[in-house]
Amino acid sequence: MKDYDALLERAYANMPSLEEGEGERFEMPVFDFFVEGNKTIIKNFKTVCDRIRRSPQMLAKFLSKELAVPVEIVGDRLILQRRIVKEVLDKKLEEFVKRYVICSQCKRPDTRIEEVAHRLKNLVCEACGARTALR
Ligand SMILES: [Zn+2]
Repeated sequence: MKDYDALLERAYANMPSLEEGEGERFEMPVFDFFVEGNKTIIKNFKTVCDRIRRSPQMLAKFLSKELAVPVEIVGDRLILQRRIVKEVLDKKLEEFVKRYVICSQCKRPDTRIEEVAHRLKNLVCEACGARTALR
């Protein structure tokens, strides 16, 4: 039985784990924000954009559309014209990262967006070379 356990352990150790590899390389950024009156202010908006290597304009536009709320970039912050709870912001950021940052083939975040034509963009992975059309 002991041998079998050791064998099993070895088998597991040799299995490539995407979760682990990804965790070492990429940690999902989290918005640091506060609510003031009827506004939600994301303090580290630019930092988050830098981490995921996407323009503040792109993420701001995505959040505005997804949450159906007007937004404004002010310095390093993003101001959303509504109270938004943490769960919703976290979920939307995760959606954005999965859709526009993480390579669908190798699950790495080393990607860039390539404009193919007007309104036609590809997510290009610098790690594995995969190209995915973005909607
Ligand atoms: Zn890739």
